[in-house]
Amino acid sequence: MLIVLWHRFVYSVFMMDLSNRPKEKLELNKLQKRLRRLTGQAIADFNMIEEGDKVMVCLSGGKDSYTMLEILRNLQASAPINFTLIAVNLDQKQPGFPEHILPAYLESIGVDFHILERDTYSIVKEIVPEGKTTCGLCSRLRRGSLYGFAEEIGATKIALGHHRDDILETLFLNMFFGGKLKSMPPKLLSDDGKHIVIRPLAYCKEEDIEAFATIKEYPIIPCNLCGSQENLQRQVVKDMLQKWEKEFPGRTETMFSAIQNVVPSHLADTELFDFKGLKQSKEAFDRLNIISL
Ligand code: SF4
Repeated sequence: MLIVLWHRFVYSVFMMDLSNRPKEKLELNKLQKRLRRLTGQAIADFNMIEEGDKVMVCLSGGKDSYTMLEILRNLQASAPINFTLIAVNLDQKQPGFPEHILPAYLESIGVDFHILERDTYSIVKEIVPEGKTTCGLCSRLRRGSLYGFAEEIGATKIALGHHRDDILETLFLNMFFGGKLKSMPPKLLSDDGKHIVIRPLAYCKEEDIEAFATIKEYPIIPCNLCGSQENLQRQVVKDMLQKWEKEFPGRTETMFSAIQNVVPSHLADTELFDFKGLKQSKEAFDRLNIISL
């Protein structure tokens, strides 16, 4: 209890008192405006949130989910529609998980929240052989628990904190290791058709989120408490994209535009485009004949 009170005190002192840090205040305003604009744009482009929605905001304790919650609350205050937000954290029972941090933070900002306790850690440890990466199974179990809970509380949307760079990394991972041209969409219907998953930060740069979270001094909880190594392939792809961006500034933005401008007739998927049925147009053929006569 004492720890919870202490954290509540610390947040109330530090969280938004930037009055004697004018440079940081200015930077924070700039970042907040940009994140808000891009999030609002993504929500509108994909019709992510509608009148009366109950949005379950999944909070892992990482920089992305804290930022998503803050920006969604910010937009909610001035949105022309009514919707509710409910923060949900899944406590996966990893040894050493600081379970007091999120409740203290969420209480301090006055957000409705649930802490969902599911011991996925033990399941992962039991199933995955020692030395193998646990993140794949862990994420699947986490998704299943969150989907189930969304149904229980009647959430109409499930918001995840993935951003533009996560989406591009996933695109390359799927190309390199899965032989598929697919990524994480900003809006998705779950396989069982029961849930709509949204990614409101889909247009936001990781760099901006990181800078925003640093100034806000969120109480970050690392996602490696289980001792698992971070997904190595993802890290390799992340490094590759960052190197490209450094060498060719703007490349990341261009690549993101590419996934918004898909031309099925210029790829090679016969399911997506009817290559077999492709015929010359009779008119163009006749015209060609006349010209060549
Ligand atoms: S690092 Fe640990 S908690 Fe995070 S996804 Fe991997 S297995 Fe799960």
